[in-house]
Amino acid sequence: MDKMDKIVELINKINDFENIDEFIEAKQIKVSSIVTAPWVRFKCKYACKNYNTNLDCPPYTPTPEEMSKILECYDEAILVQCMDSKETTSRIVRDLEKIAIGMEFYKAMALGAGSCKRCKSCNLTNCINRDTTRPSMEACGIDVIQTAKNNNYEMVKYEDDERTLYYYGVVLLK
Ligand code: SF4
Repeated sequence: MDKMDKIVELINKINDFENIDEFIEAKQIKVSSIVTAPWVRFKCKYACKNYNTNLDCPPYTPTPEEMSKILECYDEAILVQCMDSKETTSRIVRDLEKIAIGMEFYKAMALGAGSCKRCKSCNLTNCINRDTTRPSMEACGIDVIQTAKNNNYEMVKYEDDERTLYYYGVVLLK
């Protein structure tokens, strides 16, 4: 099976996951469509209450510049879209990462959505759930809105006075 077939198989595996009512779609994307930007870290530092509260948020996570270098180590990715659930988004990409490593994508790495809330209070020294928690895309300096747009997705939809929020996670592959 070639790499592209394996990625299709990976995406299809999501259908076997449990409790993923909020899952909408996953698609293969090029890592070159993933955008990092300095303003993301700037917003984290001065406009987010989660800054410096857990190890999966800045200042503990890669800067946009560091993340840009990390992205150069990858070429393909799976972008996962869910409706109104950061938790489901993060769980799906984490589980996909594990399967991907078993399929010989040994560099596979997942980035989820939202700040880590797994512990009542993060110890800020050594993550006690590192096997099952991953930082979010935005915590690593990724401009999620532009990345979604680059792949024909949106972050928010207004319809009949209803607002729907979408969350994204990604699995980086090589
Ligand atoms: S799982 Fe717990 S220890 Fe690890 S980053 Fe999240 S809050 Fe911190």
